[in-house]
Amino acid sequence: MSRLDELDRNLEQVRARIEAACAAAGRPAADVTLVAVTKTHPLADIEALASLGVRHFAENRDREAREKAESVTGDVVWHFVGQVQTNKARSVASYADVVEGVDRGRLVDALSAGAVQAGRTLQVAVQVALDDAQGRGGVALDEGHRSLLELCSAVERAPALVLRGLMGVAPRGADPVPAFVLLARAAAAVQAEHPSATMVSAGMSGDLEAAIKSGSTHVRVGTALLGVRFAPVI
Ligand SMILES: *Cc1c(COP(=O)(O)O)cnc(C)c1O
Repeated sequence: MSRLDELDRNLEQVRARIEAACAAAGRPAADVTLVAVTKTHPLADIEALASLGVRHFAENRDREAREKAESVTGDVVWHFVGQVQTNKARSVASYADVVEGVDRGRLVDALSAGAVQAGRTLQVAVQVALDDAQGRGGVALDEGHRSLLELCSAVERAPALVLRGLMGVAPRGADPVPAFVLLARAAAAVQAEHPSATMVSAGMSGDLEAAIKSGSTHVRVGTALLGVRFAPVI
């Protein structure tokens, strides 16, 4: 089977899973955007998926993301997912369309400054911490979602950033449902203050059904589309 056929088959399977999950949740399939997570996979895979109709792509390392974003032809939307080091913010702001993983004020300021300098506007999803593991980032949820709401307001105030909503990563190796329920509650609190911040980015290859059931609007799928990841190609 050619790589294009393999990607086509995987894409059909992932789309069928999304449609079935939407149907089971009584939601229209158009509610959920598929974001293909292409980290470690070659540019040719991105071009192939784009030719099959995928528009949203995500990467999680600045150098790899920048090289791919600069090389890919066609009309694609770039998401940067996961932790952004503050010293990489200016670079990320130069090519990313959507930054999912904003979790601190300094990063808001750095991304906004980078976007202003690049003459761009960035869409932002604030990351919520859904597990106790260190190092995965996200705003810790507190009483009344205070820290989260403060950070969302800071994004809204930043000159070159638009608050789109929230992003979360469920804990590995545990039932993801409680995490997705926490994220949905946080999203409701944010939408009460920022009605247009409707994005809820949650769900990956292994748990997209549970995420869609809890209201996810963007699923970030790597392995189920592209296969197992090895070392980065760039
Ligand atoms: C790699 C990655 C994904 C994709 O995970 P799969 O299990 O391969 O689908 C989703 N979200 C983030 C933040 C990632 O880093």
